[in-house]
Amino acid sequence: MIKQPAPPDIAPPPLRNDCFALPAGVNWTPVDEALALLRERLRPVKAAISMRSVRAFGHILATDVVAARSNPPQPNSAVDGYGFAGAIPEGAHVFPLAEGRAAAGVPFNGTVPAGQAIRVLTGAALPAGVNTVILEEDVNVRDGHIAFHGPLKLRANTRQAGEDVKAGDLVLPAGRRLTSADIGLLAAVGVAEVNVYAPLRVAVMSTGDELVSPGEPAGLGQIFDANRPMLLSLVEQMGFEPVDLGRVGDDPDVLRARLNKAAEQADVILTSGGASAGDEDHVSGLLRQAGAMQQWRIALKPGRPLALGMWNGAPVFGLPGNPVAALVCTLIFARPALSLMAGAGWQMPLGFDLPAAFEKRKKPGRREYLRARVRDGRVEAFHSEGSGRISGLSWSEGLVEIEDGARHIAPGDPIRFIPYSSFNL
Ligand code: AMP
Ligand code: MG
Repeated sequence: MIKQPAPPDIAPPPLRNDCFALPAGVNWTPVDEALALLRERLRPVKAAISMRSVRAFGHILATDVVAARSNPPQPNSAVDGYGFAGAIPEGAHVFPLAEGRAAAGVPFNGTVPAGQAIRVLTGAALPAGVNTVILEEDVNVRDGHIAFHGPLKLRANTRQAGEDVKAGDLVLPAGRRLTSADIGLLAAVGVAEVNVYAPLRVAVMSTGDELVSPGEPAGLGQIFDANRPMLLSLVEQMGFEPVDLGRVGDDPDVLRARLNKAAEQADVILTSGGASAGDEDHVSGLLRQAGAMQQWRIALKPGRPLALGMWNGAPVFGLPGNPVAALVCTLIFARPALSLMAGAGWQMPLGFDLPAAFEKRKKPGRREYLRARVRDGRVEAFHSEGSGRISGLSWSEGLVEIEDGARHIAPGDPIRFIPYSSFNL
């Protein structure tokens, strides 16, 4: 009989009671502390450029904008009707009509004599001698006269010059990301050119030997690179300029070269995968070697590990490979940091306290984010917290944020819900 060789003298590690316990002796940075550090250390990095206002939607103002012209520029009629000098006391009134009319863009150039009225249309500049307008529905017109009942207040149915914005007023502050409404406001107050920051270029790359691109044949053990297309579109949706740096295997030399290229082409680098402390986690390894900013391990779920560092002057957000964690870390950490670097200031998402539709017990030690949505005024959480469950990202319409300490959430308890729209998504 052949004797079995003796097994190697190696024992499995002792089981942990709590596999989510934080390793002893490791300093985990609380989320708020990590955010405060980013806020303190990062600065706007882009130069200002001049741009036509009509093209500037989504760009960030580099300087305050003051109105070049008042809105409205002159007093005008708010309705179709008849204008005269007010105010008008109670009782019946008959005014003779002056010859002519005032329409939007076609002013009446004469002066309307006291005691006479003139036809005016909505948006028409008020002629000299007119400060009050009566609605056409409230008037009888016959034989070149109008008849109506008072009283009518002085300046009724008119808009005053500058009642909305006065020439010289600050209309939009530096740091503002221009909305469609802002584009309209700029036009209305006669501002045709604005100074905006050049767009922040954000490089995105995926790391991992297991990745193939969607559309390529995928063999055993291979998975499609979901993070890169997700993060590239996320970067674009957040209003930055995405730079596709492709996919890199778990090879430190290739990764080093790709990081060099990324730092040349972009202002910030987002990597996903390889941010942990394992043998093939080369993002964190390289960042540790470069060592310009310490690698932070942030007390966040889903999220750890998240590696932050500098590479040739470009901040690197070494995001976890799990798609859910990659997305959450991008929204919670990268977004405010990118906003600051882009010139829009530090931007935290708006959350709302709403009753929970679920129960959950959470241990102390790290902040937690759940994929969630609101139905019938209550917050539902995705049925699984698995951080590879990318379908839950599509299912969800926002995140639930649970504070760092322990918490027992019972149905009906208030919890903080942050809709994706709060992240500009
Ligand atoms: P890592 O952070 O590299 O240890 O990866 C954690 C998990 O995320 C692993 O299961 C990876 O296969 C997966 N993963 C990493 N990168 C991607 C990616 N780009 N798309 C989808 N899954 C990924
Ligand atoms: Mg990996």
